[in-house]
Amino acid sequence: MSDAKSASPESSSAGLFPLRPLTDAMAAEVDRLLSGRTRDIRLTEELRRRFDERAWRQTAKIIRAWMIWVAFVDVLTLALNAILLPREIALSMVAPACLLPPAAILTALVWLKPRSAAVQRASLLGGMCLILLSVALVGVFAGGEYYERHLNIMLFVATSAITIFSVPLAWTIAIACYALGLYFVLQWYNPILEAGSVIAATLFFSCGIVATVVARRTMNILAQKTFLLDCRDQRRVAELADANGRLERLARTDPLTGIANRRWMMETLEGLWRSGGESGVVAAMLMCDIDHFKALNDKLGHGEGDRCLVKVAGIIQSCVRADRDLVSRHGGEEFLIVLPDVGEEEAMAIARRVRESVEAAALPNPSSGVGPSVTLSVGVALKSALDTDISLANLQHEADMALYRAKEAGRNQVCVFRRPPQAAGQIAARR
Ligand code: GH3
Ligand code: MG
Ligand code: MG
Repeated sequence: MSDAKSASPESSSAGLFPLRPLTDAMAAEVDRLLSGRTRDIRLTEELRRRFDERAWRQTAKIIRAWMIWVAFVDVLTLALNAILLPREIALSMVAPACLLPPAAILTALVWLKPRSAAVQRASLLGGMCLILLSVALVGVFAGGEYYERHLNIMLFVATSAITIFSVPLAWTIAIACYALGLYFVLQWYNPILEAGSVIAATLFFSCGIVATVVARRTMNILAQKTFLLDCRDQRRVAELADANGRLERLARTDPLTGIANRRWMMETLEGLWRSGGESGVVAAMLMCDIDHFKALNDKLGHGEGDRCLVKVAGIIQSCVRADRDLVSRHGGEEFLIVLPDVGEEEAMAIARRVRESVEAAALPNPSSGVGPSVTLSVGVALKSALDTDISLANLQHEADMALYRAKEAGRNQVCVFRRPPQAAGQIAARR
């Protein structure tokens, strides 16, 4: 409990504080400790602080429950003594027994919330001293057969606390030494015992208490090892999630232009169509193709062609509505734009803006049949809420048809696909 004050108030349902991400140095230290022998595990200050933060809630709960239980048993024993024992003996036990409940309840109250290590240590050790003293003095005050019996009970109480309190080993040893010292001193003054018998009994109980302290130490080390394993697992899970995220980003990104790729666009559109409900999606699809791009490659080289693709991708992205429109490289020098929740007027305005912006950028394409710079042809297909039977593939095909007509009509223009109610599609060219 070296610095439980810094423990945050949030906690997991399991009663443990969630682990904060480790720094690289701490992660290396965790690996180093786990690669060695379990009994050699010694947490560094920062790891110990985190371990304490994490274990505090559970430790405090156990300490509070133990304190309340001991106070309850003390009061119950007093009541039973009043009924079952001779009045004089029962009365002699009252004063020392009354010391226990306030000490136990005060300690439980201190352990209600995280406090500084010094306060926690003082409250636990102080509380334990008073509780053990109270149990021992009940026997001393009653005398006779009760004298030794209550000293034995006091050792039993100390042993149970040592066993279940997951506190630093120094605190455990302090409780053990105090209990054995108290036992020895009070037994020494027990009128019915010889010195040899006192020493023998103290040595006997010392063996038992030392074994309990060793067991407590082993449990502490195992708890620390579990903590280290949790740290390592959590870090590995985070690294895996990070790698997965990077892979996912790679899988949906076009490596040359950095915009979404065709696979991502198709998956997104399928999701959009599925979630469209009965009235279906309202959207426009813009199929864009750079004019005479092969000529650019042939004249200026593939490197210049690649740079042109990157610039055109950037121009297209700057022309659409950033918060909802979807842009992908469909393949080669083709780009697909999908405008959800859009009317014809707005869709056409965006399509024209894209075409005009590419032309205005004046990227060189000296061998283009259209002009000296890079131009773009755009085919537009529209789907309103009334077009309930238009599938994704249909709409894409219509955008392709419109693009084909834009190319046929001389390139560097926007064409929209017109869908008459019954008859075959009709194309209207727009500039
Ligand atoms: P049109 O106006 O009819 O579209 O003519 P075009 O030359 O643009 O069309 P075509 O399909 O004949 O040529 C497309 C060219 O795009 C051919 C191919 O070498 C080039 N291309 C495809 N992908 C890339 C790429 O990643 N980088 C570069 N530099 N060129 C590419
Ligand atoms: Mg093409
Ligand atoms: Mg082309």
